Amino acid sequence: MPVYKAPLRDMRFVAFEVFQADKLWASNPAFSEIDREVVDAVLEENARFNEEVVMPLNRSGDEEGCRVDGDKVFTPNGFQAAFRQYAEGGWIGLGAETDYGGQGFPKMVTVMTDEILYACNPSFALYPQLGIGAALALSQHASKEVKELYLPKIYSGEWCGTMCLTEPHAGTDLGIIRSRAEPQADGSYLITGTKIFITGGEHDLAGNIVHLVLAKLPDAPAGSKGISLFLVPKFLVDKDGNPGARNAVKVGSIEHKMGIKGSATCVMNFDGAQGWLVGKVNEGLAAMFVMMNYERLSMGMQGLGASEVAYQNAAAYARDRLQGRSARGVQQKDKMADPLLVHPDVRRMLLTVRANNEAARCFAMYVSKALDESRYGMTEEIRRVASDKVALFTPIAKAFLTDRGFDACVMAQQVFGGHGYIREWGMEQFVRDTRIAQIYEGTNGVQAMDLAGRKVVRNQGASVRIYLEEVRALFAELGAGLEVFASGLKHAANVLEEATRVLLEQAAQDVDSTNAAAVDYLHLFGLVAYAHMWSMMARVALAHQDDDLFYRNKLQLGHYFMQRLLPEIDSRLQAIKAGSQTMMAFAEGYF
Ligand SMILES: Cc1cc2nc3c(=O)[nH]c(=O)nc-3n(C[C@H](O)[C@H](O)[C@H](O)COP(=O)(O)OP(=O)(O)OC[C@H]3O[C@@H](n4cnc5c(N)ncnc54)[C@H](O)[C@@H]3O)c2cc1C
Repeated sequence: MPVYKAPLRDMRFVAFEVFQADKLWASNPAFSEIDREVVDAVLEENARFNEEVVMPLNRSGDEEGCRVDGDKVFTPNGFQAAFRQYAEGGWIGLGAETDYGGQGFPKMVTVMTDEILYACNPSFALYPQLGIGAALALSQHASKEVKELYLPKIYSGEWCGTMCLTEPHAGTDLGIIRSRAEPQADGSYLITGTKIFITGGEHDLAGNIVHLVLAKLPDAPAGSKGISLFLVPKFLVDKDGNPGARNAVKVGSIEHKMGIKGSATCVMNFDGAQGWLVGKVNEGLAAMFVMMNYERLSMGMQGLGASEVAYQNAAAYARDRLQGRSARGVQQKDKMADPLLVHPDVRRMLLTVRANNEAARCFAMYVSKALDESRYGMTEEIRRVASDKVALFTPIAKAFLTDRGFDACVMAQQVFGGHGYIREWGMEQFVRDTRIAQIYEGTNGVQAMDLAGRKVVRNQGASVRIYLEEVRALFAELGAGLEVFASGLKHAANVLEEATRVLLEQAAQDVDSTNAAAVDYLHLFGLVAYAHMWSMMARVALAHQDDDLFYRNKLQLGHYFMQRLLPEIDSRLQAIKAGSQTMMAFAEGYF
């Protein structure tokens, strides 16, 4: 059975030593009650709960899966009790507004608890996470009455939430959805249509399910400008928040899938279900994006959580498994062979995963800091700058962390040799469960197009220039002892600058070029961001290297990243320069 210990020391290092989160909180009235002592206690308890209660359900949930019977869906054994405890522990509302029953913790804290939850059980994680996302969309776009009625119930875990976008013929292209919303005399709407792949569309964990549904009004303009967002509860709710009659929304079936088998993925039929508009008519997509941006960082944490648990198990295996002898000569004379760890290639796999994980954790904290500032920054200017940063980095946080997370699971599985392919060790489940994170919440290819097209080409690289200034400002602080970081980061900034220039030049001449370059650009950008994170971590580690081996190991792992992983940016740049002709020259008949 896989093992997992939440990497609390690393989390604290990033939060309190690299970002000095406690000082940020002390200077912001929104977080006046949050300090290091409180957060330490939260992390300890969260780790304990997830390791002891949620993690043991990961394997059994995978084996048992969900079950549909008529219009009911049953989650795997143990999920109900664990969800109740999770809700009663206040974990669902940890980052939610205190006005509606939440605990008001910053994203810089919940990003850590998200990682732990996803590492322990990604299927289980999706039930509370979807509710939190739905609540966020309501909190920004719904009326005060709706918020008062729904948010406390979601934060307390009495009710769950979903997001219903996808239809059989409409996935990435939501402009062509067919679900209709007919206005009624009382101000509500009747929603009709079929949604597929709906996570947590139906289940037995909560008394009500709050569906957020995209649909079109009869006179809506064609395409994505004609989409509105509706709140459609499974049970209609009276003015005091009591669930009453069953609404006309039912599960049609559940999907049988490669991974996250404990998460119910449902076909949902809306047959004139009563719903209420959220936000403005025809502006549903923008309202839904609030939820999706939140979910996208959360998906990144699914990638990191999986990568961390996969690493921990691979490292333990490599310490124990005896196979072959070290090239340096016999290491364990009393044993028939040396442990796998003596082999450089096994170390390559472990260190690649670990160097990416530690950079990803720091990067997630960097994006979370911007998310907190975009919402709670003390001035309009701070909020605006932070919002731009969030917009730029959200597609990277989703796609880069999940692409690297999936690769990491495969690499960690490889450390086990044939045993990684056998169910007993749990590695194949990590691979299967993590694959979906590259697909849902907008495929990673679409995230890359969002970054290259909307976030870079559309503003002529303005956001990238601002980011490069920040990166270059760090050079000055990377003095003696940090030469590898200074030269690596300098090169990384130059390559990002050149890639951005090429992207903009190509876009002016070739309509296909941006999409052709997008995935390479996103991975290049992600690696540059990781080099930035490693440089920040190294600066702190150098200052404390005499205190503790922890810091010396950090520096050494940072060297590994800069010298062995960062050079990938050069080949990515070459691929971008090759342009779209390498792909678009083929006639359709070739495929
Ligand atoms: C387990 C699971 C859970 C899910 N949960 C939910 C949920 O809770 N709610 C919900 O609404 N949906 C959910 N989805 C749906 C998911 O978000 C979609 O599957 C995803 O957005 C892709 O849509 P699609 O499957 O129709 O693929 P398509 O849109 O058909 O895309 C196919 C391929 O083409 C590429 N592509 C598509 N359009 C373009 C373009 N314009 N330019 C370049 N490339 C393009 C894509 O990147 C992809 O590689 C879930 C799916 C799964 C499998």
